[in-house]
Amino acid sequence: MANVTYTEMNEMLNQAVTRLKSLGYKVGKVVDLEISYRYSRAWAKCTWNSPRYYKSFTITVSDRLFKANKESVRDIIHHEVIHTIPGCFNHGTMFKNVAGHCNKKFGTHISVTAPDEVVYFGHDSSQAREYEKCIEQFKQRRKAALKAAPSSSM
Ligand SMILES: [Zn+2]
Repeated sequence: MANVTYTEMNEMLNQAVTRLKSLGYKVGKVVDLEISYRYSRAWAKCTWNSPRYYKSFTITVSDRLFKANKESVRDIIHHEVIHTIPGCFNHGTMFKNVAGHCNKKFGTHISVTAPDEVVYFGHDSSQAREYEKCIEQFKQRRKAALKAAPSSSM
């Protein structure tokens, strides 16, 4: 018997986006909430779709979350949405700050380290570093392109 429905997960996604935006963060565009039936270890992950569409993300959650308690699912979805905020793709200082801010304001329990009952680190940290690098390179290329453009064209 499922505790959480897909519709509820989508509502939680919208809630997380709305909350984080209300705190002033630049939340990326989550274009899809996917369910994975294959995850053995990970509960959820946030995929940055492409450097070119660096504001577009897909959040994937394990089908096991249908049986988790609502509070945990809500926290996990918040966690994944935070990953779409610039500088938050890894679990660094920026991520911790945003999670802490959200927890304080909304009473969530977004964690960076997994609580006992919920192990949800789907991210390969080397992959996360690659993503961060790509974002940096993309920004630099854009900056360089702007600089190269004659000022009269602005
Ligand atoms: Zn994470």
